[in-house]
Amino acid sequence: MKVVSACLAGCNCKYNGDNCLIAEIKELVDRHEAITVCPEVLGGLPIPREPAERVGEQVLSISGNDVTEAYRLGAKKTLELCEEVKATEVIFKSKSPSCGKSWIYDGNFNHTVVHGHGVTVELLLKHGYRVLTEDEYKKEG
Ligand code: SF4
Repeated sequence: MKVVSACLAGCNCKYNGDNCLIAEIKELVDRHEAITVCPEVLGGLPIPREPAERVGEQVLSISGNDVTEAYRLGAKKTLELCEEVKATEVIFKSKSPSCGKSWIYDGNFNHTVVHGHGVTVELLLKHGYRVLTEDEYKKEG
């Protein structure tokens, strides 16, 4: 079973209540080959919510609220879900402070990216999960 970012499958769970639909990813869910997860919602954050970005080990919202604990809780619950379904692969939304892999926004809210992982991806990689961005998945497909 694969685990995918819910927003990539068309769920309106993005901070602004929108989604990031990728047809190939929604098809995986429709074929019951993947389940969806939104780590930020699992961590207790509402929809809509303020945008947030990683600043070192912290995650701060655009108005300066420290939302690190919600991000960590979402990461922990996502890891538990991956363990429960014995996830073979995780396909997560690029650049997100939760779901981003290799590149994330730099904390200045100006669309600049830096090397790094989202909080959930960092934890999943530590536990040996194979994580792909949506573009990596499309290239492989
Ligand atoms: Fe999408 Fe992940 Fe952000 Fe949820 S936390 S909206 S799944 S990128």
